[in-house]
Amino acid sequence: QMPVFAKAPAFGDKVAIIDSFGSHSYKQLYCSSLGLAVRISTALNSDSGGVEGKRISFLCANDASYTVAQWAAWMSGGTAVPLYRKHPLSELEYIISDSQSSLLVAGHPYAETLEPLAKRLGLPCLQLPTTSNLGTLADADTQVNEAAITDWADRPAMIVYTSGTTGRPKGVLHTHSNIQAMTQCLVSEWAWSKDDVILHTLPLHHVHGIVNKLLCPLSVGSTCVMLPEFQPEKVWEVLLSSKAPLVNVFMAVPTIYSKLIQYYDQHFTQPHVKDFVKAVCKERIRLMVSGSAALPLPTLQRWEEITGHTLLERYGMTEFGMALSNPLKGPRIPGAVGSPLPGVEVRIVMNNTTSTTIVEGNHRETWVRPGLEGKEGELLVRGPSVFKEYWNKPLETTECFTADGWFKTGDTAVYKDGVYWIMGRSSVDIIKSGGYKISALEVERHLLAHPDIIDVAVIGTPDAIWGQKVTAVVQLKKGQSMTLPELKIWAREHMVPYTIPTGLVLVEEIPRNQMGKVNKKDLLRHFSP
Ligand code: ATP
Ligand code: MG
Repeated sequence: QMPVFAKAPAFGDKVAIIDSFGSHSYKQLYCSSLGLAVRISTALNSDSGGVEGKRISFLCANDASYTVAQWAAWMSGGTAVPLYRKHPLSELEYIISDSQSSLLVAGHPYAETLEPLAKRLGLPCLQLPTTSNLGTLADADTQVNEAAITDWADRPAMIVYTSGTTGRPKGVLHTHSNIQAMTQCLVSEWAWSKDDVILHTLPLHHVHGIVNKLLCPLSVGSTCVMLPEFQPEKVWEVLLSSKAPLVNVFMAVPTIYSKLIQYYDQHFTQPHVKDFVKAVCKERIRLMVSGSAALPLPTLQRWEEITGHTLLERYGMTEFGMALSNPLKGPRIPGAVGSPLPGVEVRIVMNNTTSTTIVEGNHRETWVRPGLEGKEGELLVRGPSVFKEYWNKPLETTECFTADGWFKTGDTAVYKDGVYWIMGRSSVDIIKSGGYKISALEVERHLLAHPDIIDVAVIGTPDAIWGQKVTAVVQLKKGQSMTLPELKIWAREHMVPYTIPTGLVLVEEIPRNQMGKVNKKDLLRHFSP
């Protein structure tokens, strides 16, 4: 039991990261991080209080420099706060100020971005060399504070900001043992090994990119191939390349899978190319995962046709990493998110004042209250991966835990057919219309089966008679048209009557963020009268 960086020396010359600058071994990353940690300690003037728990915000490209900055923050005893290069200056400033960072670390080429901010906020800013020269950091001769490595478990390790889907992003503080728990359950459940090679294409300021795709592989000595950003042609190129090391694990958000499918449909038209794609994916790749937002059934089905892989869908959140997952082996049920991961306990409780527990389960067993089978309620989570607190938000922290220590996710879930299903966020996805509670995610699942609909977001818009009405914001296939009466005629054959949309808005494209999420509060603001 030790933090990821402390395991690195044992993996020695094994390649940890391959990026556009070349290969970086575990030893190289460790030594560079150690060198940077010393510089961090010096910059923060160790004798006047040290780095202990101070926040270090860092902005790096998706390459080895990210890991060096993160590990160095940890080695020096600080708390790592990852920034995102696509965030506007105002958002960067919000995170730096809100986290009360004492130091900024700018990976190449982000000194330009951070230095003016640092000046204005009166903070020191360390600049990293280019990623191919990270080794030059390693020459520092002082020793790192050993205490940071031995007595680490309950120390604050990382503040990750939530996606801000339901409000201003909140800083989620994880300790080293939280991170350990988040990685460990995935390593065991998804059978990570040192022989794995994962292709990394996601932003590195959310747990999906940080924990699932980077810390998991680095904690077991496997190799992470990092692309500077997501480009469908690049992803296909790497997945299909015969150059060693061959990628055998891939994870992404649903929108990435649909973009890969789009690219495939446009460019891989010849039968022998299609056969090649399928053969390579089937033979080489052992695991393909989707998460961060609900996976549309058509995407799952098409991906299966193209690659022969049934995407493994899982459910997670910044506050605890992953909680529910379809199995690595065994049936993956489309639309469901499987069962609790090892170490994770979940509950579904009535969304009312009685808080009656409907379901309680862990990795091994499930208990369902007789008479309440299949009833939906709020999903609660408990376990060693659950975060310590919302940074500087004691009220929010208190409010999101029950008296007996369960974290209230704000998501509505149901246990049915032996697995868990996410119905959406209680605040925006559960539409209350004429006494019915309608899951926007369920309506979306149905509408996506319409042959002309490419993407859809369902919202509950205010209605004088019904309280709320089901409004579908729809992106159609190019050249198609649709009226509300036409949609209703189709829906009558496929949907429960009271869930059929009574509002239709056609858009060019559903606005989704980098993680494939739709901000429904924004949508509501746009489309409510
Ligand atoms: P904020 O908390 O700031 O409003 P956010 O909740 O979107 O933002 P994240 O922690 O990144 O920030 O996202 C977690 C949410 O993503 C979950 O609460 C859930 O609603 C959604 N989610 C994650 N995985 C899935 C999935 N497989 N299916 C449906 N929803 C999912
Ligand atoms: Mg949230």
